[in-house]
Amino acid sequence: MKPRTSGFADDIIFPGGKTKAFTTSYDDGTIHDRRFIEILNKYGIRGTFNLNSGFFGLDRTPKPDSFMKVDISVIDESEVPELYKGHEIAGHGFTHASPTGIGSAHFLYETIEDRANLERISGKMVRGYAYPFGIYSDEVKEILRLAGYHYARVVETTGKFTIPEDFFEWKGTAHHNDENVMELLADFCDNSPKRGFGFMKKLFYLWGHSYEFAFNDSWDRIEELCRYVREHDEGIWFATNIEIADYVNAFRSLEYSADGDMIYNPTAIPVSFRRGFTGSYTVNPGETIVL
Ligand SMILES: [Zn+2]
Repeated sequence: MKPRTSGFADDIIFPGGKTKAFTTSYDDGTIHDRRFIEILNKYGIRGTFNLNSGFFGLDRTPKPDSFMKVDISVIDESEVPELYKGHEIAGHGFTHASPTGIGSAHFLYETIEDRANLERISGKMVRGYAYPFGIYSDEVKEILRLAGYHYARVVETTGKFTIPEDFFEWKGTAHHNDENVMELLADFCDNSPKRGFGFMKKLFYLWGHSYEFAFNDSWDRIEELCRYVREHDEGIWFATNIEIADYVNAFRSLEYSADGDMIYNPTAIPVSFRRGFTGSYTVNPGETIVL
């Protein structure tokens, strides 16, 4: 009998042989996305923008007595295809209604109307979602699945670099206002063995709203964060949320023989992984490899 090489599960390797992934997720599609996307593009960082298609073009210039002192007007739909080019457009509800605060039929409408609008406006398929107010339930998750979504982001964060078990409860690593965000990022980027097991650092997921940079006057802080990750980008795949979800789902779809040494990829995505210390492998779509 052939000696077994490893009792560990195979370890995912991202496209391009990268061992880590970095992504961003920003909500509500306000005019501050313009400046934020300029920063992302400058550093080659990719992200996902969660938009409410029922609010496009909405004028929200602040009134003298309002709490919100910054202009949180929503970008116009005519600007959407060009502004978000190279990034992912995802659903965030037609009018940002609370997913559990309205009836399920209304929530289904909020979801599917938003998806249809975003697809018509962008010309691209929309398969990702962020829960308005971060609110969800089992029924809400099921409605999203039926509406054609493949993941949904919540608002809780983990402070960790793990890949979610359940993509319909996708928790970020950090919000950009978290006190320890730069420490977390430094840890994520550090490839030296003293900083812990490299294979534990899979994904850094940053989320927020771009109007917060204007509200808190923190444009320098987000630019510094983006510059840092680009300057320490060895082994990092910069991807949108859906690219990561699709790749991880393909990895999780690999089929194994009883002894684990034959591996079949039934998906349309080439998948790479590492097994123990014996090496890295790629299984192409429809292919079976024998280790
Ligand atoms: Zn929102």
